[in-house]
Amino acid sequence: MTLEAASLELGGWARWHSADLPLRVGVSSCLLGEEVRFDGGHARDRFVTDTLGQWFEFVPVCPEMEIGMGTPRPTVRLQEGHGIRLVAPSTGEDFTERMLTFAEAKIAELSRLDLDGYILKKSSPSCGMERIRVYRDNMPSRRNESGLFASRLLERWSTLPVEEDGRLNDSLLRENFIERVFSRNRWRGLVRRGLSRPRLVLFHTAHKLLLRAHNEAAYRRLGQLVGSAGTIPDRQLFATYEAEFQTALQTMATPQKHSNVLYHALGYLKRALDPIEKREILTAIEDYRKRLLPLVVPLTLLRYNIRRHSVEYLAGQLYFDPHPKELMLRNHA
Ligand code: SF4
Repeated sequence: MTLEAASLELGGWARWHSADLPLRVGVSSCLLGEEVRFDGGHARDRFVTDTLGQWFEFVPVCPEMEIGMGTPRPTVRLQEGHGIRLVAPSTGEDFTERMLTFAEAKIAELSRLDLDGYILKKSSPSCGMERIRVYRDNMPSRRNESGLFASRLLERWSTLPVEEDGRLNDSLLRENFIERVFSRNRWRGLVRRGLSRPRLVLFHTAHKLLLRAHNEAAYRRLGQLVGSAGTIPDRQLFATYEAEFQTALQTMATPQKHSNVLYHALGYLKRALDPIEKREILTAIEDYRKRLLPLVVPLTLLRYNIRRHSVEYLAGQLYFDPHPKELMLRNHA
């Protein structure tokens, strides 16, 4: 499927997407089916390979292979020592320094590739994003650490959209992650075309409803920032906007926040709709808020009426199409 083939009529993601700027996402190699696990096996994730693989260009990374541990290899785990150590309990070999040195160099290399996101393998003492067991005196002492490579990635690149395979089974987390990946890619496209104040205004305007669905306070701050253009140097303006934009999207968009945005959008149509049409949309929004209907239902009703009544402001909002509909991210109740 080509990206252009999925182009939408409203001002959706495809209008902003450049075919020459692929959605580039780092991934734990074993999730792609590469046989790099300690036992020579893989951990292929079909959603990652078969669904996301249609849209994302993956950059595979297996930290344990890349520090020369080979396969098959003894299992490793996190241990308390001088800080958190990465150790093979069967041999006592300590891989901490090698892994940390590798992580610094790899993250610098990945930064140059300017990734749009990263998918980590859950439960791995190297790649796991959270809840990795840490041992003390051969006993599990606590959970809630990240794997050693993952912890450096999260620390050094705090605005990068990062998820792990297990969490991608959660519909809200999945949509949030993919939405951030597409949004980051749009920002990269803007940078590539050349940042200017008018282009920043266009970018911000198109993302208004999307931002409101995540973080109303950040949406307001970003609006003030864009409005203050001219009072601060452009370089500072763009850097501050980018950081705040990426951070705003980290806040989860919930059904309650989506409902507020949908009501707001409906406000633009109130004079154009008759009472029955209005009631139909209101009912769909309420049913969505109560999780009786998926988000795609009120969105479809609104999109139809936005087109029918040519509501220009709403037609330009990425909120209505932030990612390809084939991913079906908004089809769950
Ligand atoms: S979890 Fe990470 S270190 Fe382990 S096999 Fe997969 S990519 Fe390699």
